[in-house]
Amino acid sequence: MLMAIGSLTAMGVTLGTILGAAAKFLAVEENPLEEELKAMLPGSQCGQCGFIGCGQAAAALAKGEAPVTLCPPGGKAVAEALAKKLGITADLSEHEEKVPEYAFINEALCIGCTRCIRECSVDAILGANKLMHTIIAEPCHGCAKCFAVCPTDAIVMRPIEVTLGTWHWSKPGDGHAVH
Ligand code: SF4
Ligand code: SF4
Repeated sequence: MLMAIGSLTAMGVTLGTILGAAAKFLAVEENPLEEELKAMLPGSQCGQCGFIGCGQAAAALAKGEAPVTLCPPGGKAVAEALAKKLGITADLSEHEEKVPEYAFINEALCIGCTRCIRECSVDAILGANKLMHTIIAEPCHGCAKCFAVCPTDAIVMRPIEVTLGTWHWSKPGDGHAVH
């Protein structure tokens, strides 16, 4: 019994040492700028920028491989903030300010093909094969991916109405030119 406990303890200590050494030598160095840029993006992983998610978009921005206007849901405010953080001048006068939207399904037109449900990264769509689908407006971040794939035009993008529940203060830097 004592031998078994001793062996297990020795095994635990050895494995712990190996894992500790592996964590030290295999650690991936984080880029602080990349982390800061990532925190400035919406974090909804919608993929509208062409990258898999906000982390990959931030990495490309940090390397100067993506424009500050890459994030449609972030709009002009995020583009301005990114330019300021990167210390670059960006002419955003032509940049379209996007009104926040959510997707809505006209249930009478839905044929239950499930194409939309497979596109949604935030599980905002409920439905099943050959059954009517519906969208929960709250988690929907308006990426319009479902809208793009619907074969029956059952999905429409609607502007989010400004109410006491949806209104929020503008982010710092809104409405100011970037120098
Ligand atoms: S627009 Fe469609 S795919 Fe995008 S988050 Fe909303 S429901 Fe999901
Ligand atoms: S893609 Fe269109 S038709 Fe297919 S399940 Fe979604 S809403 Fe219905």
